[in-house]
Formats: sequence, structure tokens, C-alpha cells
Amino acid sequence: MAVRVPRRQLFIDGEWREPALKKRIPVINPATEETIGDIPAATAQDVEIAVEAARKALARDKAKDWSSAPGAVRAKYLRAIASKIKERKSELAKLEAMDSGKPLDETTSDIGEVASCFEYYAGLAEELDAKQKTPVSLSTEKFKTHVLKEPVGVVGLITAWNYPLLMAAWKVAPALAAGCAAVLKPSELASITCLELAEVCINVGLPPGVLNIVTGLGNEAGAILTSHPNVDKIAFTGSTITGSKIMAAGAPMIKPVALELGGKSPIVVFEDVDIDKAVEWTCFGIFLTNGQICSATSRLIVHESIAAEFMDRLVKWSKNIKISDPMEQGCRLGPVVSKGQYEKILKFISTAKSEGAKVVYGGDRPEHLKKGFFIEPTIITDVTPSMQIWRDEVFGPVLCVKTFSSEEEALELANDTHYGLGAAVMSKDLERCERFSKGLQAGIVWINSSQPSFIQAPWGGNKRSGFGRELGEWGLELYLSVKQVTEYVSDQPWGWFEAPPLEDDSEMSYY
Ligand code: NAD
Repeated sequence: MAVRVPRRQLFIDGEWREPALKKRIPVINPATEETIGDIPAATAQDVEIAVEAARKALARDKAKDWSSAPGAVRAKYLRAIASKIKERKSELAKLEAMDSGKPLDETTSDIGEVASCFEYYAGLAEELDAKQKTPVSLSTEKFKTHVLKEPVGVVGLITAWNYPLLMAAWKVAPALAAGCAAVLKPSELASITCLELAEVCINVGLPPGVLNIVTGLGNEAGAILTSHPNVDKIAFTGSTITGSKIMAAGAPMIKPVALELGGKSPIVVFEDVDIDKAVEWTCFGIFLTNGQICSATSRLIVHESIAAEFMDRLVKWSKNIKISDPMEQGCRLGPVVSKGQYEKILKFISTAKSEGAKVVYGGDRPEHLKKGFFIEPTIITDVTPSMQIWRDEVFGPVLCVKTFSSEEEALELANDTHYGLGAAVMSKDLERCERFSKGLQAGIVWINSSQPSFIQAPWGGNKRSGFGRELGEWGLELYLSVKQVTEYVSDQPWGWFEAPPLEDDSEMSYY
């Protein structure tokens, strides 16, 4: 069932390239704690060459470089990438499950989404030519203005490990569709499938330098990419703390950034729900991807009149969740990604207990699994709004619970966070859901569900969850800059030399 992890190098200028310092990072399977391979570790010199290769791809041949090729040409490559990924779907899904600990069912679905994402942006690349020049209607006839949409240039793409290839695709596909050249720096904790994307690019003959993939550590390869003066924009997915470092590193150059950061999303359950359905969405919303989703609805806010029954069923269903090696049939909860993450999550749980919260289910390693970074689905009550478990992102299978008695109180609790990524509201009263959605301070709201995302719809957060929107047309716009082009079309002189006499108090207007 398991597959061999290919030994790859950095992917720079269309070729495999050994890292300058020949350093490699071991890849640990989080389910077995075994080393299953290694990835190259890029340092400053490698990032430098990768950025140079990307720059060259935009100026290789002025008439035919990547950015000025018709959208249809770029679309052809994106479709070819999608088709290769589909061919290798089963193998890539297995590699990703072994690398990240995500259940194989989930990685299989994710890799399918990766292919769809490349296909979707191929479509937008084809449409882009027609939209590249848009006239602007002005209040004067002396001028004509149009707007050009142009690729941003060389973009640095830095991603997290929880959806390794999918998060990369959310950036790479629109960046390439827009005509940018990119340097991708995936997370050192799960880079295997991103290196396989390099192999796919070689297979489809993507022009050299258009996409470069440099694996390595965040504070080395990532930091160099972020502060590189020849990188025009950074698109980042990761923690809020790293997001803030990235903003700071780019600030001296006024480098634009798009940030997809952490969250502490609420799920608000009103008294009129179908309890079993709501319990299923609650479990899905927190335990999917082993609890490691930026938008995980990790704060359950449930109406006090149904809280007792809801909690009984929530615990009953949580007990039924299959925790196993991600490659096992029917696995719903695998290990968290690394030892560091495992220890961090257990520390969150012990701090919550020491602050007076009560673990009503889980909270530890499952008894039947002696190895691997497994943590039981964990449900915590008796939480106060000042507790760390209520305020900070755990990024693990840990749900904390509070009750409410009125809609106002529920909204106040839901918005009581520095984050603003996702939020879910569950009620049969759709008017109430709509009203409540408007009050929620979040970039994404789910009604009677939690977590679904769609390639066509915008994804991103507010407050400390970041800014900028990925996916859909918004995802393409991140990689396009807008240029105003204005032409003076009047036969008459402009008239600036003919200033009116001082005593003339008539209003002067050039427009
Ligand atoms: P992280 O911030 O530790 O790392 C993310 C990426 O940044 C990695 O590639 C890492 O190597 C790199 N990095 C680290 N330090 C850097 C630096 N100084 N300069 C440049 N790059 C640096 O995050 P993580 O632990 O990999 O991922 C988990 C976080 O990602 C969670 O907070 C989660 O909520 C967030 N996330 C957000 C979204 C979203 O769409 N909003 C999606 C997935 C994950």
C-alpha cells in the first residue's frame, strides 16, 4: 500500500539542482515515526538562483516570454499539468498521506482538487486576453482612459503543510495563469508532493524558470525569498506570527503581500437544529485534516436549552471516529504532522486543564496506538473567554465549548477573537442565519455546514487571519496589477499657459 518516496533535488530553471550546501531534511512519517526519505534544503545561494531564473523567464525573449504569451498558451500548460496530476492521483495521494498524516480519503480528494484548480485557472487564463484592456468612462471628452491588467512579475509563494499540494496549487495555478513567474517554498514538514509537481512540470515541458520549487526551512529559504529585492510580491499561507514577520521583512521595500493566516473560528448552534446533523458538521468542522485546518470551527457555541443533549451526542460520535494509520481503510483521524505539533497540542490541553477547563472527551494519545503523533478527538468545556484554549489557535483535534442564551450573546462570543477567517451558523430559521451572517466578523460564513470550499468562491480572512482573497477571480487578481493609461484626445491646447487674470473669480477647471 505504501509507496516509495522519490529522492528529488531543488527545481530551478526547469532542471533538478542539488542544493548549494548539499543539505537535506529528513521526512518523518507521522503515523510510524519512521524516516521515509529526505528533501533538499535550499539556502540563500539556491534561492538567489531560483529568483534569477524566474526573472529570466519573464524576459527570456521579449516577444515570447511567459507574461506576454497569449492566455491560451499558458492555459495549455496548466491543462497539461492538471492532466498529469490526474494520471498520478493515487500515487500522489499516498505520498501526501505518508508525509502529512492526513487520511488517504482526504488526500485523494485534495489531489483531485489540485487538478481541478489547474483546470479552472486555465479557463481564466484563456478569458484574460479579452479582459486585459478595459475602457473607463470619464466625465470629460478631452481624455480617453483604459485600464491594463498586467502580471505582477516574479512572485514568491510560501505555503503551509496541512494541504501541501492543494495550498501550493491555489497559488501556483493563478500566478502562472496571470503570466507571473514563481518561486514556491513549501513547508519543510510536507514537501514531497510539491517536489512531484516539479516532475510534472518537467513532463509537460513548462518553459524553464516559470515555476521554481525550493524546499527548505522557513527561517532560511523562506526568509531569503521574502526579503529578496527582485521578488515583486509574496503570497503566503501559514501562521499569523510568520505572516507578521513576512510583512515586516517586505516593509522596507513596500513589497505587496497576500496573507492567508490562522483562525479560531466559531460554530454557533441554535436551539432549532436537527441535532444529529449539527453534531456531524461540528465533528467534521474540527476533526477534518486531523484538526489542522486554518478555518477549523474550533469554538462551539451552543444554545443552552439543547447543550446537554448536544454534548451527549457529540461525545458519542467522537468515540466512533476511526483513529488509525492514514493509509488504513476508513481512517477519519490520523496523526498530527510532527512531534513538535503533537507536543504543542498536548501542552494546550494541559494548560486548559490547569486554568480550570474540563476535558469531557479525549485529551491524550489513543490507547491502541503506541507509536505516531496521534491525539484523540478532544472536547473541552467549562471554558472562560480569557482562557488560552478559547483565544489561541491550537491547530489540532481540540474543540472548546461554551453555551449561550440569546442571539446577541452568541454573536458577541463568536466575534470575541483576534481572528476572522471562518464562522458557521446552524439553525432552521434562515432569516436568522442571514441576519447572523452579516454580524459575523469573518471572511467566510457557512450556514448549516462547516468547511466546504469551492474553487470558484473567494477564500480568505479578516483581522489577524490576514488579507487578500484566494480562489475564484479574486485569486487571479492577486497576481495582476492595474495600470491606468490615459490619452489626451482634444485638438485644443491644454490651456495651462492661459491662466485667467487674478481679478477673475470664475472657477478654473482643466477637466
Ligand atoms: P508556519 O507559519 O510555521 O509556516 C508556513 C510557511 O512559512 C512554511 O513554508 C515555513 O517554512 C515558512 N516560514 C516560516 N518562517 C518563515 C520566515 N521567517 N520567513 C518566510 N517563511 C517562513 O505555518 P505552518 O505551521 O506551516 O502552518 C500552519 C498555519 O497555517 C496555521 O496557523 C494555519 O491556520 C495556517 N493556514 C492558513 C490557511 C488559510 O487559508 N488561511 C491555510 C492553511 C494553513
